[in-house]
Amino acid sequence: MRVLGIEGTAWCASAALYDSETDSVVIESDAYAPESGGIHPREAAEHMRSAIPAVIETILDETEDEIDVAGQRSAGRQASPVDAVAFSRGPGLGPCLRIVASAARALAQTLDVPLVGVNHMVAHLEIGRHQSGFDAPVCLNASGANAHVLAYRNGRYRVLGETMDTGVGNALDKFTRHVGWSHPGGPKVEAHAKDGEYVDLPYVVKGMDFSFSGIMSAAKDEYDAGTPVEDVCRGLEETIFAMLGEVSERALSLTGRDELVLGGGVAQNDRLREMLAAMCEQRGADFYAPEPRFLRDNAGMIAVLGEKMARAGDTLEIEDSAIDSNFRPDDVPVTWRDPEPP
Ligand code: ATP
Repeated sequence: MRVLGIEGTAWCASAALYDSETDSVVIESDAYAPESGGIHPREAAEHMRSAIPAVIETILDETEDEIDVAGQRSAGRQASPVDAVAFSRGPGLGPCLRIVASAARALAQTLDVPLVGVNHMVAHLEIGRHQSGFDAPVCLNASGANAHVLAYRNGRYRVLGETMDTGVGNALDKFTRHVGWSHPGGPKVEAHAKDGEYVDLPYVVKGMDFSFSGIMSAAKDEYDAGTPVEDVCRGLEETIFAMLGEVSERALSLTGRDELVLGGGVAQNDRLREMLAAMCEQRGADFYAPEPRFLRDNAGMIAVLGEKMARAGDTLEIEDSAIDSNFRPDDVPVTWRDPEPP
């Protein structure tokens, strides 16, 4: 099956083609980079509107190269370059989601193929499960606007722990904006932390949930008080990633699972992956993090999950395909896998 995926929850306008026969994914993305400050919803939507047609066209050109659509048409047969169109239905910025959903609906109708509405957060974790071959892992989503620890049980991904305030990447970005660095801040924190000495910052885990807003404010205060920025960055990484690691480890322990999958844009950070890999090794668990192009927002993960959903018949009628900007991962009935792990 060949599925066209379209992603556009915030900053990344992206289209991808997933071919399940060869298990290959081609991705074309166009990122929005704010000139100053963080992501402005109106600017992000303007970027989405202008970039989505071009990334879709590039991917459709790719499919035309692979199958002889023109040849099939001249032979009197109807040919669609794909078997389904999948789009990111939420969570995300409403104005961006609406543009992507309109494009997906129009394309599905024009090509006369099913439409699939994919939860962006479930896509962030399913890509790791798909690539790792793990059956029932605990999943840590460390992305810009979110932070969740999840595990599959009885037809749903259950949220075992999550942020009580800001997303993990957004916390790093807010600190770097304060320092005067351009968006996105995460990679700059990583680069500067390499030369820093650890400074103590508030470590906030409550039950299985974490909070990042107090750390962010304390990091700003440290910087304003003259602590070298490299040291603050090191303190931020060590503190935030230890919190994510603690909750992930407790989730492994609580569920009795022995596999951890990482997803989301912050997972591009080497130190986070190193800390999680060390934790898993110490408790005899397996750890998997996808390659970077599948960690940041991308349509590849939408196409891969879209293919599983389409195969399971989990498709949408146009009139039921409204976006959901607060679409939680535990709102999604998991139709594409066995109900219970062994
Ligand atoms: P969500 O997926 O929750 O909607 P999002 O759309 O903001 O979030 P992602 O692509 O998952 O997007 O993540 C982007 C975030 O990842 C940004 O906050 C960015 O600063 C952070 N990030 C990117 N690279 C790194 C890195 N090397 N270290 C830490 N954070 C990083």
